[in-house]
Amino acid sequence: MDCIFCKIISGEVPSLKVYEDEFTLAFLDINPVNPGHTLVVPKKHLVNFEDADEETLCRLIKIVKKVGFSLKNNLSAPGYNVAVNNDPIAGQVVPHLHFHVIPRKENDNIKLWPQRSYAGGEATEILKKIKI
Ligand code: 5GP
Ligand code: ZN
Repeated sequence: MDCIFCKIISGEVPSLKVYEDEFTLAFLDINPVNPGHTLVVPKKHLVNFEDADEETLCRLIKIVKKVGFSLKNNLSAPGYNVAVNNDPIAGQVVPHLHFHVIPRKENDNIKLWPQRSYAGGEATEILKKIKI
């Protein structure tokens, strides 16, 4: 399969590994937002959240927590962002599910997405559609 992360998992493409177990790999992003930016991926090829079973997601999030702990303790990062770009419209470039774990520093000038306000009644209309 022509998936760059599957190639990293198999060792065909080298990576700098932060953590590895039977199910999960965490490695440094080649183009970090901040140094230490780590990607946490399932070893099986899953495209996105919809593709992933709950057990795999639970395993992944546990490793995300471990990585965040390491970034805080070993890079003196006061905090970190956890992000998943789920599907191309959301910015997913590599179609193999991955969590970004991005260490943050004071004054690192990283701006997250812009926010807006709801128009009158818009929030309740949206809620009717998405309430689970
Ligand atoms: P996405 O936009 O799909 O959420 O993020 C994909 C991430 O994978 C990007 O941040 C990009 O820098 C990283 N990436 C892409 N190709 C490689 C690679 O060959 N090696 C590593 N270590 N990271 C990669
Ligand atoms: Zn893959």
